[in-house]
Amino acid sequence: MASICPHCSHPEAVAVLENADGIYVFPCLFCHHVPRNGVDEHTQPAAAPCAVPRCGGSVVDHYVYGSDHVAPVAITRYPCTWCGSARTREPDHARSARGRALADPRL
Ligand SMILES: [Zn+2]
Ligand SMILES: [Zn+2]
Repeated sequence: MASICPHCSHPEAVAVLENADGIYVFPCLFCHHVPRNGVDEHTQPAAAPCAVPRCGGSVVDHYVYGSDHVAPVAITRYPCTWCGSARTREPDHARSARGRALADPRL
């Protein structure tokens, strides 16, 4: 499982590990940002473009932070509000920079 980076908006860039203690997030593959709690309980949205051709909507991951955990306590994916798809694609500006460094899991 992976989520959209709230810092650089790369889709599926933050690997998420779920276990009995909750969830653990790895640094973003692209900008190395680690989703962390600030001071309060809050929800941080991270959006990426919808993967459906010609759909201009976006898919949003909500990182939910509690007051006593540094890591997010939950990450919830909200599908595209236009078409309902939960699939993300890379923003156009990221596509060329990424090159062939990583295999595309959708292929
Ligand atoms: Zn990032
Ligand atoms: Zn869509």
